[in-house]
Amino acid sequence: MKTRFAPSPTGYIHMGNARTALFNALMGHKRGATFLLRIEDTDTERSDMQYVDALKEDLKWLGLDWQEGPDVEGPNGPYFQSQRGDIYEKYYQQLLDAGLAYPCFCTPTELEVMRKAQAQAGQPPRYDGRCSRLTPEQVAQKKAEGIPYTLRFKVPKGEEVVFMDAIKGRQRFKTDDIGDFIIRKADGAAAFFFSNAIDDALMGVTHVIRGEDHLTNTPRQILLLEALGLPVPEYAHMSMIVGPDGSPLSKRHGSRSIRQLREEGFLPQALTNYMARLGHTYKDADNTLMDLQQLADGFELSQCGTAPARYDENQLRFWQKEAVQALSDEAAAQWLAPFAQDKVPAEKWPAFAALMRDNITLPDEAVAWAERLFEPVPLPQTELSVEVAPGFFEAGAEALAQGADFKQLTEALKATGAKGKQLFQPLRWALTGQLHGPELPVLFELMGREEALRRFRQAAE
Ligand code: GLU
Repeated sequence: MKTRFAPSPTGYIHMGNARTALFNALMGHKRGATFLLRIEDTDTERSDMQYVDALKEDLKWLGLDWQEGPDVEGPNGPYFQSQRGDIYEKYYQQLLDAGLAYPCFCTPTELEVMRKAQAQAGQPPRYDGRCSRLTPEQVAQKKAEGIPYTLRFKVPKGEEVVFMDAIKGRQRFKTDDIGDFIIRKADGAAAFFFSNAIDDALMGVTHVIRGEDHLTNTPRQILLLEALGLPVPEYAHMSMIVGPDGSPLSKRHGSRSIRQLREEGFLPQALTNYMARLGHTYKDADNTLMDLQQLADGFELSQCGTAPARYDENQLRFWQKEAVQALSDEAAAQWLAPFAQDKVPAEKWPAFAALMRDNITLPDEAVAWAERLFEPVPLPQTELSVEVAPGFFEAGAEALAQGADFKQLTEALKATGAKGKQLFQPLRWALTGQLHGPELPVLFELMGREEALRRFRQAAE
């Protein structure tokens, strides 16, 4: 078995294509199969090497290593479509020789006029095949005149393409609904339908798992492969990811690139656990944080839903919290270092990082806590919801001035008559300006008695 991820390097990868990569990697991983990476960069205008580097880095960060593809190489390279022109030429020639493809000289304006006429007649837009009727002499003459041309595949008439989609079930398409489509663009570059299908076949890909937006491309690709006598892979089209309003996931819904999520401090385990459940369910362990091997072991195409997968930031944060809590002390310190280490005294850093691991979801909260604990910022005026016992803050300041530790501090405060919430809420408030947060004794330890004294004095004012 061989699965693949075939991104076009025209931007940073986001949740949608990262999930595609993940499903393919999990599917391959599970069965000890190969997960292949192929760069679909035939669109030279829009492709950018910068994005190739970025997507390789993002995939590795997610833990999705490929066993065949750029940097790894293998028997089926090159793995950049831009370097496969000669290979495609051979297959164009095969189609031309068999009379299954033809040059099309129609200009964009002619095609536009055709589309408009079809729209007016209430017909779907479809190439009417006019260039397939040119005589060899006409073709030769147009070529001699230097008129640019595309190559189109001659779609057989009156047939049906039937295939079994591993997620969506049996699919049927009438070839009469498919116009002769472009397989080579006027600038000589391979069109997506063509290079994508040919490469899957030549690279030995057995399973193509991709977004549902490609479902209607599949009959075209099957026709091409069959015409060339190449093997047809199994297809699985995943339901699309939509925002809370049901429209395709976009920036507007808070969707961001994997890179940006990483910069915000999301952990790869959080993203893989979240994405593996976007349109896929785990039979037994749907709420358990799993590593990639476990995610792969439980992965089944039959557990992929056909309804759109709804993106939910809260779910993503749920998995992030799970992933954060699973970090070792060392890993937590490493995770937070780029965000907050410069705000914390060196000797307190390990304890601070461990405390944060148990209390936060994202690093910006650690930054806020570091500032709260170690910078002499004026405390925010959060409203207390309890009445403060008379002399409460004064008693605290007094005890701290005499060298009280946390236990002695609470005893001094209890002596004012405060207990329960009436004791702990103003205590927390005096120390942190907050009504909620990590365990007080640890916070007290981290900020030190001097600072606690300063804050109690401030509260007493
Ligand atoms: N390059 C195509 C894309 O990024 C690949 C589609 C496919 O997986 O077949 O949409």
